[in-house]
Amino acid sequence: MKPVVLINTTLCTGCQKCVEVCKNGVLYINDFTGLAKVRNVENCDKNGACIKVCAPKAIKIS
Ligand code: SF4
Repeated sequence: MKPVVLINTTLCTGCQKCVEVCKNGVLYINDFTGLAKVRNVENCDKNGACIKVCAPKAIKIS
């Protein structure tokens, strides 16, 4: 089943840590909002690296 990756934009600070640890290129920082966004979600392997580095706990994967 295709993974679902949700970013809580109220909690996200745009620190980019999730972008740096995602080896699959699923996360990026949106130029307009300065916050994390999801692309190519089918490449997510659900390893949870992004969740571990996200201090405000803004990422959920299911
Ligand atoms: S690690 Fe968390 S706070 Fe930092 S950019 Fe990613 S989602 Fe936002």
